[in-house]
Amino acid sequence: MKKPTLKSILGSISSFLLFFLTVGFIVSCSMMLFVNILADTMELTLTQENIATAAKVTFWNVILITLLFKLADYIRRKIMVERPTKIITEATEKIMSGDFSVCIKPMQSSGMEGFNQIAEAINQMAEELGSVETLRTDFIANVSHEMKTPLAVMQNYGTLLQVTDLPDEKRVEYAKGVTDASRRLAEMMTNILKLNRLENQQIFPEITEFDLGEQLCECLLQFENVWEKKNIEIDTDIAEDIKVAADAELLSLVWNNLFSNAFKFTEEGGTVSLSLTATEHHAIIRVRDTGCGMTAEIGAHIFEKFYQGDTSHSAQGNGLGLALVKRVIDIMQGEIGVESVVGKGSTFTVKIRRV
Ligand code: ADP
Repeated sequence: MKKPTLKSILGSISSFLLFFLTVGFIVSCSMMLFVNILADTMELTLTQENIATAAKVTFWNVILITLLFKLADYIRRKIMVERPTKIITEATEKIMSGDFSVCIKPMQSSGMEGFNQIAEAINQMAEELGSVETLRTDFIANVSHEMKTPLAVMQNYGTLLQVTDLPDEKRVEYAKGVTDASRRLAEMMTNILKLNRLENQQIFPEITEFDLGEQLCECLLQFENVWEKKNIEIDTDIAEDIKVAADAELLSLVWNNLFSNAFKFTEEGGTVSLSLTATEHHAIIRVRDTGCGMTAEIGAHIFEKFYQGDTSHSAQGNGLGLALVKRVIDIMQGEIGVESVVGKGSTFTVKIRRV
């Protein structure tokens, strides 16, 4: 709270004097009117002495009334204005210094509705800022953590490559190690940038009408060498002529991520199935695998940024794929869900509007 200055003291005195003069004028006029009427009706003759006593009484009355009013006003200001202002100022100062745990309790006395509204807005603001801050620090911690691994790998291989008379075979192996780690790093950066742009709505979807079945098949075919290498069986059931109006590039990001996970988490000799069906207004896409599956606990977090439930495959991803998928589906106002049984496999179901 600010200390009173000479200016504020002079201000208070002048406002008191103004108030005193106004009250004095009103009370004196009323008194004179009253005494005159009284004297007239009762046919009294007022002596000089009577008038002097009446003037004195009036003067002290005015002083007393003014003081009482001023005191009542002072107490009212203290309780109704200064106390809540102090609480609100302290809360905003805390927020400014980065403490978002602020919570102003509602003031109970009547006439405080306005302050309570401000307090409520400040509480909400602190809560929002707090969650943004947590997200930001989590994000920075995650990015730094994810960057460390490929950088350490590159550093190690780089050191190994410095050894002279290294056999060709080893040199190629180490160089491949550096290339793989840098590719992972680049992939992660691309995903972070994409996610950031999607979250900040800097990507304006380019809507075109296209055949969804065709797009799904094209995306799936890109994984041909993966399923051949792992001897994975492919099972497709694609309804014909289902058209959607969407951003084809964004949507292919969804299929690529779902397929890439299905192949990644399915052991050799397993099966990956893709089905496309339609209802009157929606296209329903299911990507099913006979892979490791996931627990309900993991399933509840898979759409979060940087979340990786299965750490045995963490070298092949960075936990951003499904966060991107979810963001794209949200932008398209679609739905995505997962059903999974540990050891049996998972089914991702996407529902989007069809044309
Ligand atoms: P990444 O695959 O890069 O780890 P994602 O965001 O694509 O990141 O997936 C997050 C997590 O979801 C994975 O770490 C894994 O635990 C789980 N997950 C995703 N798809 C599957 C799947 N088909 N089978 C089992 N677990 C999966």
